[in-house]
Formats: sequence, C-alpha cells, structure tokens
Amino acid sequence: MLRHFVVCGPAQRKCGIVASNYEEFLKKCRKKFELKKHNKILITLDDETEVDEEYFEYLVDDTKLLISRSKTIETTDYIHQLASFLHACLDRQPQLHSKVMGCLQEPVTSRQAVTLLELIAKATQASTPLMSREEDVEWFKGLDTKFKTKEAVMRNSAFTRMYSYLDHAKRELLPDKMLGDSPQSKAILFFKEKLVKSKYNASYFDRSALSDEERLCGPEGLFGCEGPFDQHKCSGIHFINPYASREARIVFSTWNFDHVIEKSRTIIPELKAALSGPRPSSVNLHYFYDLLFLHKNSLTAAKNTNGNLKLVHIACHVKKQHQCECEPEKIFLDRHDDVDGLCAQYDPGPRGRGLKRPQPLPDASYYTRSKRMQGSTDCCVGNGSNV
Ligand SMILES: [Zn+2]
Ligand SMILES: [Zn+2]
Repeated sequence: MLRHFVVCGPAQRKCGIVASNYEEFLKKCRKKFELKKHNKILITLDDETEVDEEYFEYLVDDTKLLISRSKTIETTDYIHQLASFLHACLDRQPQLHSKVMGCLQEPVTSRQAVTLLELIAKATQASTPLMSREEDVEWFKGLDTKFKTKEAVMRNSAFTRMYSYLDHAKRELLPDKMLGDSPQSKAILFFKEKLVKSKYNASYFDRSALSDEERLCGPEGLFGCEGPFDQHKCSGIHFINPYASREARIVFSTWNFDHVIEKSRTIIPELKAALSGPRPSSVNLHYFYDLLFLHKNSLTAAKNTNGNLKLVHIACHVKKQHQCECEPEKIFLDRHDDVDGLCAQYDPGPRGRGLKRPQPLPDASYYTRSKRMQGSTDCCVGNGSNV
C-alpha cells in the first residue's frame, strides 16, 4: 500500500517520501539523504521508538519518521568538544577557527567534519587542562596576582555572585544598616552563616570540585546553559568553557544566574513582608536561603530543597516578569496560629511597620500579596563580576 511519510533526516533536513514498503522506503531515504549503502539506517518515531520492517507495515499515512545512520554520533559530546575548542581558538588560532566555521556549513554528519572535530578535540585538550598562572600566562592577564590557579579565579567568580545576592538582601532588609537583634538582621546573619558553611557555593564554578552536585560544569570546565526560567532546557547551543581561554573567561561574566522566582521582584519583597509581619520568628529562612542562593537541579530537588538558580546564557536570560510566586505554604515554618508568643491582640509596634492593621491572622491574601514592582530587571542587579 502506497503511503506518504514526513521524514526528518540527518542535519534536520525534512522531506516527504512516498513508499509502499520498507525496502522501497529505505532506498528512497538513501537517495534523498545521500546515505551510502554501507551505512545502516535507523528509523524511529518522534518518541524514539525504533521502526523495523514489521512495525513499518502498521504505520499510517503521514507518519513522521526520523532517519539517522545507525551508528549515530553522540551529539552532546560533539557539541562539547566543539564549544570548548571554539572558545579556545577565538584568540589563539584564528585560521583554524575560520576553517572550522567553514566545516560547520557542511551537514553535521559529513566525514570531514567528524575528522576535523576529532583533531580539534585533541588540540583543545592542550590548553584547557592547564591550571596555574605559570602554565597559561595569557589566561590570567588582567587578574589580581593573588589568584594562582584558574580554579581559584572561578571560585572567586561564584563567590562574588553569591555575595552580591546577600548584599542585595542586606540593603533591602536593613536599609539603615542597623544590626542588633531585629528579625531582619537575624535573617541576614542566618544567610551569612549558611553561606559560610557552604563556602559561598564557590564550588559551583570550580571544575575541580568532586561531585556533580558541587559544580555546575564538567570536570574539564565546560558549562552548558540551563535554558530560560520557564523551560526545562536550553534550545540553543549555549556552551562555554571559561577555563579554556581568556576570551571565554571574559564572556562567561555575561552568563547569569537567573532566579526562577525573581530576586528583586518577588523573593526579597516577600521576605521583607514576612519578617515585618506578626510572626517574624516563624519565617522559614531555609526556604528563602534556597531561593536566593541555591542552584536548581534534580539533585537539590530530590533532597527536598528549593533550589532556584539557573545558569543561563544571555540569550536565554528572560528579562520580562517571570510571574513565579513564592510557595505560600513554605514562607512560614509552621502554620501555627501563634503570633510569636504574643496573643492575637498583638500590637505591631515599631517592628510591624509594614503591617497596615493589627491583624486578624495572616490569611491567604497575605501570603500571596502581590509583588512590588521594582521596574528593574532582576538578575542583572549585582551579578557584576569581571570573571
Ligand atoms: Zn541557552
Ligand atoms: Zn531574570
């Protein structure tokens, strides 16, 4: 029976193919996509189900099929190698750079491209693993001499970002820099202690950190964009290895930690409101710590924490309002009706400035109180770091 298929071949090329049986279909695919006879072809459905001769007979008209050579090249690996290399060669091997770009115009499965990339992978390995100032003078140009290794520089970069979030919270919660034992200063102190314990999450950028949980890059230092705040992954090819070249190190400073629940628009106003409400000592500071400082990934999620930071390439950094709220039931440690040891006739007093009226207990509208607009874009605030 003659059927029509929508076929997506190597290099994302699409076409329609009409065939009455499996053999004919393969033959037409070979011709269309210029696949040689010795290349075994793999046919799959959209969801990666493999289609064999038997299955093929059951396919209906207009089924979408994906065609690849059955020894598929590991795409991620491929891109990793390439990305590392491109960054490494930007300021070092300009001729090679243009050759690669030329090669990339070829279908991704072309043999020359593969060979070249293999060569490149070897070439990159020459500069990326270098660690110290003595080994890679160029990389350290312009940096404080106190940094002896690339890892130290990158740890400092992560530290600086975390520190700026803490500083931001501090400026908002304690505008008059008053310390003392107000709930606000207790909160800041809590964050600070927790940050000290986690070494300000400096390991996020440290390729020598031991576990995947500590670092966001591969052991060779390659970072991948984690995609816009509202998507599971990046749809672009956003990779960078700041360890590979000075150029890449500088470009990496434009990569942002994006707070999924926004820092200025949502987290800090919410925290402020909770702390100046009737139950400041029940505020779930662990939750707010996670929102401000913790990376969002499957590991942190599995541990029941509330990681909220995504590392993103500038193109995946959405500047519009995220419309993500804090989870109301997590803002306070318990849903206890006590008002911090005081009875319901609690007088807000000087600490309760933010509160309009002495309360009936906080209700749902309190928790979801709308965010204060700050007009500014969020994560660009204080991400500034030259590394
Ligand atoms: Zn991206
Ligand atoms: Zn953002």
